[in-house]
Amino acid sequence: MSKQRKRYFLNEEEIPNQWYNIQADMVTKPLPPVHPATKKPLTPEDLYPLFAKECADQELNQTDAWIDIPEEVREKYKYYRSTPLVRAYALEKALGTPAHIYFKNESVSPMGSHKLNSAIPQAYYCMTEGVSNVTTETGAGQWGASLSYAGSMFGLNIAVYQVKISYEQKPYRRSIMQTFGAQVTPSPSMSTRAGKDILTNDPNNQGSLGTAISEAVELATTTPNCKYCLGSVLNHVSLHQTVIGLEAEKQMEMAGEYPDIVIACFGGGSNFGGLAFPFMRHRIKGENGKSHTRFIAAEPASCPKLTRGEFKYDFGDEAGYTPLLPMFTLGHNFKPANIHAGGLRYHGAGVIVSQLLKDGLMEAVDIEQLESFEAGCLFAKTEGIIPAPESCHAIAATIREALKCKETGEEKVILFNLSGHGLVDMAAYDQYLAGNLQNYHLDENTLKADIESLDNLQP
Ligand SMILES: *Cc1c(COP(=O)(O)O)cnc(C)c1O
Repeated sequence: MSKQRKRYFLNEEEIPNQWYNIQADMVTKPLPPVHPATKKPLTPEDLYPLFAKECADQELNQTDAWIDIPEEVREKYKYYRSTPLVRAYALEKALGTPAHIYFKNESVSPMGSHKLNSAIPQAYYCMTEGVSNVTTETGAGQWGASLSYAGSMFGLNIAVYQVKISYEQKPYRRSIMQTFGAQVTPSPSMSTRAGKDILTNDPNNQGSLGTAISEAVELATTTPNCKYCLGSVLNHVSLHQTVIGLEAEKQMEMAGEYPDIVIACFGGGSNFGGLAFPFMRHRIKGENGKSHTRFIAAEPASCPKLTRGEFKYDFGDEAGYTPLLPMFTLGHNFKPANIHAGGLRYHGAGVIVSQLLKDGLMEAVDIEQLESFEAGCLFAKTEGIIPAPESCHAIAATIREALKCKETGEEKVILFNLSGHGLVDMAAYDQYLAGNLQNYHLDENTLKADIESLDNLQP
């Protein structure tokens, strides 16, 4: 008899009521963000003008391992949580691997990705602090869509700068944001000084997350009662996403297994950290039977900050409005190729993840665009879900590990995050199926030049 597809869910009362803050348990704490002019470490107060106060406090909290999820946020989580943990029997069979493959399916959220897990608390904190307007950036549109929906839940006005190439490649995400009442502008635009500067130098600039962040930050700092929200990279975003891993931990227990390998795709690190950190806490504490787990971040070969970037202080945006962050980076002037995984086209990695990589607690692999879509198509055919182009990177890394198990005969347990579905990304699949997609090769000299330009920013 063939094995049935198996899915694990939690009861409402088992949905976590706290997020896990890995900073409290890290032996080497992340270095502080610093002010670009004074090079002095930032305090939460320095961040209050830009972010909701609660998010600023969470960002720099290195002492509390557990942070309460507000009851109103937990109520909204219940709209779609728990998300299923699924044993991917059909994928295992197609690969002929003895590995046990599980995935956490974040694509079932109303917006189709994990991004809503942080959009809800960020919008909630803005609302409770009396903020009326919120700005943000979005790449593929997943974050913009999630924040637009969360903003509409709590009565906020949302303005989104969407990376121009994605605005054109993924028009329906714009429609989704507009359905929830958000105002969407392709970036770079003429509506900000940062955008004007970029377009003056390069009228055909296709935009990047770094550019869109500059525009959103500029609008937030020049508009009364307006805050800025970010969908990835920052510590408080990964904190909110730990609801994924905390649920997955309970669900793996229901399945009677513990992961040997945990894998997620990597843009700025929020879905990776969200799944990985709750499991990594056992490794940090050296717990019996739980300290061997490997953690793998899968990034695109065309935007390889973890595998080919360097650990340096860098700006989070192109114009240099943000604090300097200690991170693995390709340099804020790095221009990523126009791959379809829009959510992975960012020059830097989150501060926590950067420190963990430096300390050898995690690994990173890079995946070419064609390998990612090949993996995504196999997953769609076997498991019946069309994955987001971003998530395809995690699937490709999972397949690599599962095939290694096939060679060695090891029955490893692999857990990966299905960060989103690709039903609004079919233009990308269309091009892949028509044979119109390519791999991009990044030459070492271009890479080095962008990174070396950071030397004069170092504290
Ligand atoms: C935004 C996004 C990502 C990348 O962002 P992270 O912060 O690295 O998780 C990955 N997958 C999907 C579906 C996304 O929308």
